[in-house]
Parts: sequence; structure tokens; C-alpha cells
Amino acid sequence: MITFNDVTKTYPDGTTAIKSIQLEVQEGELLVLIGPSGCGKTTTMKMINRLIEPTEGAVMIHNQDIREYNIHELRWNIGYVLQEIALFPHMTIEENISIVPEMKKWKKQKLTNRIDELMNMVGLAPETYRKRQPSELSGGEQQRVGVLRALAADPDIILMDEPFSALDPISREHLQKDIRKLQQEIKKTIVFVTHDIDEAMAIGDRVCLMKEGEIIQLDKPQNLILHP
Ligand code: ADP
Ligand code: ADP
Repeated sequence: MITFNDVTKTYPDGTTAIKSIQLEVQEGELLVLIGPSGCGKTTTMKMINRLIEPTEGAVMIHNQDIREYNIHELRWNIGYVLQEIALFPHMTIEENISIVPEMKKWKKQKLTNRIDELMNMVGLAPETYRKRQPSELSGGEQQRVGVLRALAADPDIILMDEPFSALDPISREHLQKDIRKLQQEIKKTIVFVTHDIDEAMAIGDRVCLMKEGEIIQLDKPQNLILHP
């Protein structure tokens, strides 16, 4: 589904963030990228939706170099959930979730149905929350809306970069369950970054352990060898 073919990324200042990695993310899997700060997790994610271009090698989606895709279509097909909750404060929950579907010119009825479906899926009653502003939601609720926004237009791929790191442990656990449930229901390919090993073990189909720009292990959670 997503393939990194011998990818290296060197930033203009000479920092090599990624050192010729080979990586295949399978269709429908939830792959966790984990490793210490600075190991190259975010750089890897940003190369998947072309926010960053590799210096060498290529990133492929469905066996096609992503440089050959129309950039807008590529990004519409990839939902991105960021660490900081980045809802637009002046827009309602409904408007926040509708951004990409509206760019794709979805019909009103289809969009309304989709929003209901998504909100119910994560326990946010549409009749209660639809017209609220982000400031009227708890941190955990806002983060759930951030996830729904990334899913709204039914992307093939979802990238999540430490989406729950700012949350308390209980909200975090709820959201981890939500993600597992969503992934099992909708069978999306998800790449999830964390530096929390418990989170990685709890949600990953496979875990990719990175260090200094290289992949040092890639396996199912139960097969990982962890050095404290
Ligand atoms: P992680 O997400 O694992 O914390 P990053 O991918 O953000 O790691 O960073 C990997 C390495 O690349 C780090 O050494 C970081 O300092 C460096 N880096 C990240 N962005 C830039 C940039 N724009 N310019 C120069 N170096 C960068
Ligand atoms: P926060 O702590 O930010 O207020 P939580 O995620 O802890 O947010 O959720 C607040 C309330 O919503 C809790 O009572 C919790 O049981 C409930 N809740 C959380 N996630 C879900 C969910 N996916 N489905 C149904 N209810 C949920």
C-alpha cells in the first residue's frame, strides 16, 4: 500500500533525518512508528503526503511514485491528525468535520449522514455537539473531532502523529479504543506515531522501532525485543 524504497532525507542544514529506509505498510494495517525524539518519525510521516520530499529514493502508494499523483488528490486521500488539537476555533464541530468533503463537493445530504455516522461512532451525540464550537468541548472530545475530521472524506490512508499525547490517561485510553474500533470497522491503513511503548503495544498491528533515522525492528507487538 505504502512503500518506502530506499528513502533518505537530508535537510538543507545537513542533518540526515532518515537513512535509506525500506518500509512497506500493508493495506488495512495499523502500523506504529515509535522511537526517541529526533529519530525521524515525523519526517517519515510528512514524506507520505509530500509535505517533505525524499533526498534519495521514492515513496510509493499503490506501486506508484507519489510525485506522479496530483498533489491535491494525494492529500485529500490522506487524513492527517496532529499532536496539537488543530480545530478551527471560530467554526462549529460540523463545519470543522466538513472541510475536506466540501472541497470535494459532496452533496449536503451525503455530508449530513456522514457526520452523524462519524459522531455516533465515537460517542458524540450529533444533536448535542453538531453546532457547538471547539471551546465548548473537553480536550478528549476535541481530539475525537480531530480524528473524525481526518476520516470525514473517507481517505485511504490516515496519518496520526502523537494524536493523544496532550490528553489525560483516561481520555487517551478511550481514544485508543476508538481508533482500534474505527480501524476494524473501516479497514483503513493507519500510520500512527507515538513515543509511548504501552500505546504502541496496545494499538499496533505491527510496530516499527526507529533510532537515529533507521528502522531497527519491525514486527508484531508480541515479537518485539525491548531493551529498557
Ligand atoms: P521525531 O519525529 O522522531 O522526533 P523528526 O523527524 O522530527 O523526529 O526529526 C528527525 C531529525 O531531523 C532530528 O535530528 C531533527 O532535529 C531533524 N530535523 C527535523 N526537521 C528539520 C528541519 N526542518 N531542518 C533541519 N533538521 C530537521
Ligand atoms: P475528557 O476526559 O476529555 O472529558 P473522555 O474521553 O474521558 O473526555 O470522555 C468523557 C466522557 O465521555 C466519559 O464519561 C467517557 O465515558 C465518555 N466517552 C469517552 N469516549 C467515548 C466513546 N468512544 N463512546 C462513548 N462514550 C465515550
